[in-house]
Amino acid sequence: MPQSTNSFDTIVIGSGMSGGWAAKEFCEKGLKTLLLERGRNVEHNKDYPTTNMMPWEFKHRGDIPYEIKKDNPVVSRCYAFREDAMHFFVKDTEHPYVQDKPFDWVRGYQVGGKSILWARQTQRWSNYDFEGPKRDGFAVDWPIRYDDIAPWYSHVEKFVGISGNKDGVDTLPDGEFLPAWGLSCIEDHFKKAVESSYKDRYVVYARCAHLSEPQPIHIEQGRGQCQSRNLCQRGCPFGGYFNSNSSTIPWAAKTGNLTLRPFSVVHSIIYDEAKGKATGVRVIDTNTKESIDFFAPVIFVNAGSVNTNLILLNSTSGRFPNGLGNDNGLLGKYFAFHNYRAHVNATYEGLSDVNSTGGRPTSAYIPRFRNVKKQETEFLRGYAAAFYGGRWGGGPDTSGHGEELKANLMSKEPRKLGAWNVGVQFMGETIPKETNFVSLDKEKKDEWGIPLIKFNVEYDDNDEKMIRDFFEQYTEMFTKAGYTNIQTSDDKRAPGLDIHEMGGVRMGHDPKTSLLNKWNQMHNVPNVFVSDGACMTSTSTQNPSLTYMAITARAADHAITLFKNGELK
Ligand SMILES: Cc1cc2nc3c(=O)[nH]c(=O)nc-3n(C[C@H](O)[C@H](O)[C@H](O)COP(=O)(O)OP(=O)(O)OC[C@H]3O[C@@H](n4cnc5c(N)ncnc54)[C@H](O)[C@@H]3O)c2cc1C
Repeated sequence: MPQSTNSFDTIVIGSGMSGGWAAKEFCEKGLKTLLLERGRNVEHNKDYPTTNMMPWEFKHRGDIPYEIKKDNPVVSRCYAFREDAMHFFVKDTEHPYVQDKPFDWVRGYQVGGKSILWARQTQRWSNYDFEGPKRDGFAVDWPIRYDDIAPWYSHVEKFVGISGNKDGVDTLPDGEFLPAWGLSCIEDHFKKAVESSYKDRYVVYARCAHLSEPQPIHIEQGRGQCQSRNLCQRGCPFGGYFNSNSSTIPWAAKTGNLTLRPFSVVHSIIYDEAKGKATGVRVIDTNTKESIDFFAPVIFVNAGSVNTNLILLNSTSGRFPNGLGNDNGLLGKYFAFHNYRAHVNATYEGLSDVNSTGGRPTSAYIPRFRNVKKQETEFLRGYAAAFYGGRWGGGPDTSGHGEELKANLMSKEPRKLGAWNVGVQFMGETIPKETNFVSLDKEKKDEWGIPLIKFNVEYDDNDEKMIRDFFEQYTEMFTKAGYTNIQTSDDKRAPGLDIHEMGGVRMGHDPKTSLLNKWNQMHNVPNVFVSDGACMTSTSTQNPSLTYMAITARAADHAITLFKNGELK
């Protein structure tokens, strides 16, 4: 096609959590935007086939049939890969990748990406996170600090809708919150036990992207109040949680400036050596297998961390034979993730006269307390944790069959509730290292001739030491809370199942040691921006998507200024 019909002001690659934000910001400010998505379209409500189904309407009552599990061992390990939402996950068999070292790569290839499936946990980073690499001497210094991103956190939070409390904890900055659902009685008990025993450890209500009390900006998006159904991964008919499909993408479309093109796998970014800049994007239409070029002076790469690395590594030219902007050879390196391997569980015999009932889209959260103000352990950085508690048993006796079952069900004597079961899930920061990297396989290609991505990522001794400390500290905290039968466990999962892949195209001050500047522009190709997880210099402990969205909105704002000033033509 002639260039004029394929030209836009900006191209955004990937329509998930971060790409949706880039598209919204550009379209609102009047830029003609092409949003490219490799998967199918998923329209809010229209394409949520299971959203109103009852448990008995599922052929396997929600479970994944054995044959599917057997053929898809990686995605089957994800807790949310269930019969009600499996159509939003990439099956291992559909899009293979190469694991030189085991890596569980969980993906959602459709308009909305993984934003349909996420667990909606949205904690801000603090300056302890942005200053971490410099203070503790790993990776490279972040070129931004909390103050640079704080207004963008607010910008995103107001539009997305975040339920939370203002806790006044300096490791977990407060934001623009809708009312919180509140802590359950057992969470409140743990909070009191921890906060009375330690001066620097807190148990708070985990902030989450749910509309507890929709504001006019949410109503304008066509979204309504969260009903605490806890069926979010199916897509929510109320728009009660944030996903790109119910929020940023329709908002961008309403401006008339958006062209959304599903079924469009980006093969590479086109670099024009004469002009010394990227001029467009090469796409393969997955229906027709046709190769089509699109052009724009501003290109945002938001394909999800791993695919963003893949696209850049595959964008070779005479000027950049090893991948776009990759003069220092660091593209794909310093790849990192979160470590969710460890758990501590226990029982509590107290609070025997109360129980927690009803749904709620979040839990309690314990921000990082290790190595915050100073280095105090033999490992670097630290871990946050999610706390959960519930009582099992009670209700009618459903044991037995036939006459016996009938008799048990009719029994006037309800079964007693058991003791409380409590537990914490470890959320460890990992240290980005040059030896943890993704690269392109030299031989294996996908059905469109694009090289497969190859993982060389593993845990290290720092992670092992951190897990041991988590076990010790939470055993102590549970003991102080009066919990018994304390059990520690390490499920030894491969990296990746945390679904928080980060790095490979990190931000930094120096083009010799990083790929992106403080505005997420490639040092060597400034009209290409990377603002998904690939840009992350370090990983912190917090769930990262809120930060991806805020960094994207900030980078888009900068790109718009440059574009309007004529600096990106
Ligand atoms: C079960 C689950 C629970 C999670 N819970 C949380 C949580 O509680 N909190 C949190 O912060 N995060 C959570 N996450 C992670 C969160 O979903 C991701 O961090 C977030 O979606 C990343 O946004 P993104 O824009 O980088 O990528 P995505 O949302 O994955 O979007 C990338 C898009 O790019 C498209 N794409 C890829 N390659 C190409 C190509 N070559 N050409 C065109 N398009 C392409 C993909 O199809 C996809 O639509 C969870 C994820 C899952 C699956």
